[in-house]
Amino acid sequence: MDISNHHLGQLIIVSGPSGTGKTTLARQVCDRGEAVFSVSCTTRPPRPGEVDGRDYFFLTEEDFLARVARGELFEHARVHGRLYGTLKSYVYENLKCGVDVIMDIDVQGAAQVRACADELVKRCLLDIFVMPPSLDELRDRLSGRATEDAAAFELRMQNAAAEMEHWREYGHVLVSGAREDDARRFDAILEAGHMRTSLR
Ligand code: 5GP
Repeated sequence: MDISNHHLGQLIIVSGPSGTGKTTLARQVCDRGEAVFSVSCTTRPPRPGEVDGRDYFFLTEEDFLARVARGELFEHARVHGRLYGTLKSYVYENLKCGVDVIMDIDVQGAAQVRACADELVKRCLLDIFVMPPSLDELRDRLSGRATEDAAAFELRMQNAAAEMEHWREYGHVLVSGAREDDARRFDAILEAGHMRTSLR
């Protein structure tokens, strides 16, 4: 029996309100070459400094819906009033090659992936909810960003509270604290995940 042979990559879903540092956690792992980041499609406009194809594929609503109709998206959802979705081919190709894929997606998208009947997805899935220590702390962290106008900011705070209701649907919850602790615990989840028999 040879169990060292080819194994599948992990499909790592990271969710949680904006401002918890989940995107940073995901990007750090990818920057070390330990996983690839699934660049999502979105209809929201780019923020200053964001690059098309690196942060998101910025699409018109018409183009986005055409991709949905062609079956190109693995999951998609409307978040904060805009459409977001994951490209299916990129995810599947990497998982089959044994490469971990990180998806930074919302709770609706995560529910769609969990409900996916595909055996490959079921075997590879590893889901993590990154929880802010409190809503007050999240408000402080988010207000420091200044990327949004006041109305958009309040919408994000409301959505954050609603998203936090869903943490129990995830296999793992990481309550965000100091940056280094979060990174260490995030890596520990991924490392343990690699030893799952379902990936063999
Ligand atoms: P932001 O606009 O701050 O980059 O992202 C807003 C929210 O959309 C975040 O919670 C993020 O996780 C989520 N999101 C980003 N890409 C996707 C995606 O492809 N699918 C889904 N369902 N949510 C996404």
